[in-house]
Formats: sequence, C-alpha cells, structure tokens
Amino acid sequence: MASLEASPLERPLEWDTPLFLMARAQFEQALPHAEVSPMVAERLSFPERALIMSVPLRRDDGTWQVFAGYRVQHSTVLGPTKGGIRYDPEVSLGECAALACWMTWKCALLRLPYGGAKGGIRCDAHALSQHELERLTRRFTSELFAAIGPQEDIPAPDMATNEQTMAWMMDTYSTQIGYAVPEVVTGKPISIGGSVFRREATGAGVVMCTERACERMGLNLSDQRCIVQGFGNVGGVAATELNGRGATVIAVSDVSGGVHARGGLDIPELHAYAAEHGSLAGYDRCERVTNEELLELPCDILVVAAREDQITGENAGRVHAKLVVEGANGPTTLEADAILAERGIPIVPDILANAGGVTVSYFEWVQDLGRLFWDRDEIRIKLADKMADAFDRVWAVADEKSVTFRQAAMVAAIREVAGALESRGIYP
Ligand code: NAD
Repeated sequence: MASLEASPLERPLEWDTPLFLMARAQFEQALPHAEVSPMVAERLSFPERALIMSVPLRRDDGTWQVFAGYRVQHSTVLGPTKGGIRYDPEVSLGECAALACWMTWKCALLRLPYGGAKGGIRCDAHALSQHELERLTRRFTSELFAAIGPQEDIPAPDMATNEQTMAWMMDTYSTQIGYAVPEVVTGKPISIGGSVFRREATGAGVVMCTERACERMGLNLSDQRCIVQGFGNVGGVAATELNGRGATVIAVSDVSGGVHARGGLDIPELHAYAAEHGSLAGYDRCERVTNEELLELPCDILVVAAREDQITGENAGRVHAKLVVEGANGPTTLEADAILAERGIPIVPDILANAGGVTVSYFEWVQDLGRLFWDRDEIRIKLADKMADAFDRVWAVADEKSVTFRQAAMVAAIREVAGALESRGIYP
C-alpha cells in the first residue's frame, strides 16, 4: 500500500486550503484500494505547476483595477491539461488546485487523453460590463499565453464564463499566433469551431448517469421526484432533461433562492422567467424556499449543481433523498460523505456525474484538430456510450472493493493515470 507520509515537501504549501485538502483526502482515501506504487502516489498528490497573475483592467469609468488570476495544471501524464476558467469572488490558488486534481481524475475516468487544470479570475463578473469582461479576458489570456495551447493546456468555460469568454480567449490566442487556432479552447460558439451539444453536455451527462443509477437500483426515473440545486448551465439543463424523461422536478434554485411545487414545476416557464429576469428572484407562482431548505426537502433524487460545499456535516443528516447526484464539483464535504454513506444514501460523484462536459469538450477538440464536424445525434450517442462505460466500471469497482461510488470512481481513475505514469516513469 502506498503511503504519503514520507513526503519531503514542507507543508503547508500555498495551495493547502480546505478545498484542496479535501481533494487530497479523497485521493488518500482511495489510494489503499488503487494499489499503486509509492512513486505514483507521491507524484499525483501535487499539482505539476501553478501560475499566479495580476491582471490589470481599465474600468469603463476610466479608473484602473487589478485582479488576481490563476491557472493550475495538475497532471500532464496522459496528455495536455484541460479544465475550466471561472470568474468568481472565491477563486483562489487552493480552489484551482483542488478543481485541477478533480479534472485529472475525471478525464482519466472517462479515458480521455488529458490531465486536469483549472483557472480563473477572482472577481464578481456580474459587477463588470461586457466591455470590461472582454478586456479582462483578453489580458488574462495574454498573461496565460505561454502556458496554454492545443497540445499544452486547453481552457473551457466554468462558473460565470461562457461561449463568449471562450471566443475572446480563442481570438486573443489566435491573434498572437497569427492564424485561427480553434482547438486552443473548448465550449466556443459553433461559428468558430464549437461543437453542437457542448452547452447541454454536462447537464445531459448528469441525467444519463442518474438514469443508469436508477436502473441499477431498480427504480424508474420517470417515477422519481427530483430536486435540482443550481439553475445555470448544468442545473438548468439537468432539470430540463429530467423533465423530458418524465421525472417530476419538484424544486429548483439559483443564487437568489429556490422554488418548490409538490406536484412538479413548469421547467420551460422557469427557464423563460430566468432568461427574462436574470434569475429566479421574484418568481411567485409557487412556494419559495431558501437554498438551505431546498436541500432538506423530501425527494427521491437530489441533484446538486450549483457549487462546492453545499452538503456538509451540518445538514447531511437532514437530506431526504434516495440518491444524490453531483452536477457541481465538490458539493459534498468529507464529513457529509461519511454521514450519507452511514445513512445508506448513495452519491454519484462529481468526477463521474458531471464528466459529460469535458467529454464533449474532448469531442470538440478532436473535431477542431481534424477540421471535420459531427452532428448532434452522433455526439449524443458517443457521449452516452462514454458515460455508460465509465458508470459501469465505477459500479464494478464499488462491488469488487465494497467502497462508495466516490472511492470507486477515484480508484478507477487513479489506476488509469498510474498505468501511464508507471510506463513513462519520472524524468530524469
Ligand atoms: P453557472 O454559473 O452556469 O450556474 C451556477 C448556478 O448555481 C446558477 O444558477 C447560480 O445562481 C447558482 N448558484 C450559485 N451559488 C449558489 C448557491 N449558493 N445556492 C444555490 N444556487 C447557487 O455554472 P455551471 O457551469 O452550471 O457550473 C455549476 C457547477 O458545475 C460548478 O461547480 C462547476 O464547476 C460545475 N461544472 C460545470 C461544467 C460545465 O460544463 N458548465 C462541467 C462540469 C462541472
């Protein structure tokens, strides 16, 4: 069994924040079951590199402000690194490091030829105008220029970034290279090499996993009452897909709070409302609940698709669901994990449940490199195959080792990277 105790690196290191320590603890919990060498265990516990930038922005009123920017690349063992860019007041080195690790495991679990990365700017994107966001994104990309590239590190959207952000990044990078390089980012508009079905891929993948978990648990998805926390790219699409498969979505929420209707919500109407008003705030055609209350409402399936740290040691005892599905990254703390396991509530973990996004990002990159594009049905079928294959491997490891799905997913992923690292060895 591999041990990490002998690490000569002084701790704590710069990225040792609670979120990174949680990602590392998940890795350590899975290690004894993964049966990898101490060399592999030691190497993969640290990100390979991290970049911290200060990004200057001229505000629309002529004043100047400098923002902190980050990019962490966890592992290049399987190929270029891949991961989102988020704009959020909570972005930090430790947060990016944790998310970069999870991206490594996610890509490996789905057998994509990538390692994990994550980056972002510590800012409140909603307080910036479109012009300001464009200038900030272009300067950030320029600062990142030496670290990213189609064979080095390929960014994608994450919280508060979108297709437009990726278009600015692609254009800024391409301008410096001298010709169009669509394959430097994924999640772009279709007009510049984006893939059909990329926008829906994460939420659709969440529901593909949910459906497979239901089948394995002997449940009919269409008979389930579902709650979705988060009504953005992931949660909004997951709610639509659940609704489309006949499940009853009884509550959804965004940062402004939640809405609840025992008989089921009108999801298309909620989308129309959120598109018109910018959020669910003020929607009064059903009962309003807080985000805390939403997580504790009785239901069959709880999809957490907002952000990290939502099911905690404090509220896990009050979650009333038969199944929890992690659309967001890191929504369940370690204490909550243990409490839910003790209570017999299975969790489909983030690195499996929300892997649809990076999988279709991979399809986008392959299409860009080949300059040959696939249609929506082909992509949906290829995604469903990949998700089902990963789900079944996780289920098999959980059975074989009698561990939780999270540990099983980590074990399956660590084994993929370990196999490659053992073959390559460590230079020199
Ligand atoms: P988004 O910005 O589109 O949506 C986030 C949603 O969560 C919004 O509705 C927001 O109002 C809501 N929210 C924020 N804080 C909240 C809180 N405290 N309580 C309830 N709701 C809250 O972001 P997204 O792309 O949907 O990402 C959501 C999560 O999924 C993140 O953890 C992200 O890392 C993860 N993820 C996203 C993708 C992707 O393809 N977009 C892929 C994998 C994982």
